[in-house]
Amino acid sequence: MPDKPWLQHYPDEVPPTYDYPKHPLSHFLTETAAAYPNRIALDFLGKRLTYRSLHESALRFAQAAAHLGIRKGDRVAIMLPNCPQTAIAYFGTLLAGGIVVMTNPMYTPRELEHQLKDAGAKAIVTLDLLYERVTKVVLPAGVRQVIVTSIKDYLPFPKNLLYPLKAKLDGLKRDVNYGGGVYSFAKLLKRFPPSPTAVTIDAEEDLALIQYTGGTTGLAKGVMLTHYNLVTNAIQSRLWSYRSEQGKEVYLSPLPFFHVFGLTVLLNQAVYLAGTLVLLPRFEIQPLLETIRRTRPTVFPGAPTMYISMIHHPDAPRYDLSSLEVCISGAAPLPLEVQERFEAMTGARLIEGYGLTEASPVTHANNIWAKRKIGSIGIPFPDTEAKIVHPDTGEEVPAGEIGELIVRGPQVMRGYWNRPEETAFTLKDGWLYTGDMAKMDVDGFFYILDRRKDLIIAGGFNIYPREVEEVLFEHPDVEEAVVAGVKDPYRGETVKAYIVLKKDSEADSEVLGAWCRERLAAYKVPRIYEFRNSLPKSLVGKVLRRKLLEEEEERARED
Ligand code: AMP
Repeated sequence: MPDKPWLQHYPDEVPPTYDYPKHPLSHFLTETAAAYPNRIALDFLGKRLTYRSLHESALRFAQAAAHLGIRKGDRVAIMLPNCPQTAIAYFGTLLAGGIVVMTNPMYTPRELEHQLKDAGAKAIVTLDLLYERVTKVVLPAGVRQVIVTSIKDYLPFPKNLLYPLKAKLDGLKRDVNYGGGVYSFAKLLKRFPPSPTAVTIDAEEDLALIQYTGGTTGLAKGVMLTHYNLVTNAIQSRLWSYRSEQGKEVYLSPLPFFHVFGLTVLLNQAVYLAGTLVLLPRFEIQPLLETIRRTRPTVFPGAPTMYISMIHHPDAPRYDLSSLEVCISGAAPLPLEVQERFEAMTGARLIEGYGLTEASPVTHANNIWAKRKIGSIGIPFPDTEAKIVHPDTGEEVPAGEIGELIVRGPQVMRGYWNRPEETAFTLKDGWLYTGDMAKMDVDGFFYILDRRKDLIIAGGFNIYPREVEEVLFEHPDVEEAVVAGVKDPYRGETVKAYIVLKKDSEADSEVLGAWCRERLAAYKVPRIYEFRNSLPKSLVGKVLRRKLLEEEEERARED
């Protein structure tokens, strides 16, 4: 077998190796704004911003950040849904030399406090609607500045008509008294000029992003990604979609930019290619179909759940979806039936890819126009090596055999923020140990079979059971709790909790559900509860999650 059997399937247009530029990530915006100033960069519910305007706003934000004391290497959290301000704050922070910490707007105060504290964030950019939640934690988390914006600032219609919630900023400002500052995003942009910044970035050394991902220890840990990591992965994605034309593509963007998949394949790649990003602040099927009709997008990366809801929606056949050409599914396995029905319905190519936060994230994908294999995550990206190794011996296993997938390439992280032990465990000799069990066929195509880590993926969102279990354990009535992912036709997997209650306790699923909703983002809250007298345990007393899952499968077979 050749050393890298997948290379034989590379189309002529895709080079197996490429000389990636070592420039800061913000160069994508600077270069595109210079070459295509009048091209539409962002379309937000019909309100449009050109590349010139996006670049100027980002420069204004960078000047404001510098004025507020953000220096090179300082962490700035961005807690926003997809809206123009997300792109402005992201590129603005990078232009100021800051490190972006993307933060999920669904986080509860507890999750938010952990992330801000762990990252040592100096400032946070957020929405007026999230402001109350944010102010609960800024003091304990040590955040000095809060920059607040409002969705209404970028709506295409008169603000007071269709946006009944008046900005509460001025009132709220008076309530805060913690020694830091609260600033209006809009006022900052008005006050500072769009002048270039004077920060120098070493693309290979300096971090652009600290991106949080769950850990087996329960709480999320920060993945350190350099400018070079992210520039590379956007270019690798572009090499893969080699027919995409500079200045022509329209990217449908319901994937959140606070997840690195959305950040790389949408925001970074679109700006690099001078495409138009059609922003959707959340995934809702009806507005999505309307938006496709209005904006005629050509590229639509998504999670399997998004394609599933499209094929099942009764109104979908009434819409002209023929503008879609390239759809890339990642984050979780893509069912075959979904792929076939979606392609038949739209005429687009829907291919499956694979990645993880630790690799910026994409390492594998089926090629869009060349050979692909259904059920496979495809072949490694240019300059990306991949091997299947025996989880105990670390030896490479022959084609067709199952082992742990390990990857090496320019998109692989520097390590985990402030966690040298976990870094040493995950990164060895430049190889990233993914924790995913996989196999490679003789053609060099890879297949994901199972996960070594206990990760649950529900609707494309990652949930680490430990984190949910810890919250359940804190409930005074819970004696034991185990959380696992069980099959769900829509979300792929859903969260199920197995509970042993303390003696004489009368807690039920409603009580525990409310408890979890207060402490966890909605997607992590268990949807199913099973109360038991005991849980299956190993000889050393470890609860056997696998055994519970086997029981689930058995029950499903019997039904
Ligand atoms: P994250 O770091 O949040 O991007 O999650 C990465 C994890 O998602 C991987 O380690 C896999 O377990 C899972 N994953 C991503 N893409 C796929 C795919 N196409 N099929 C199966 N699992 C996937």
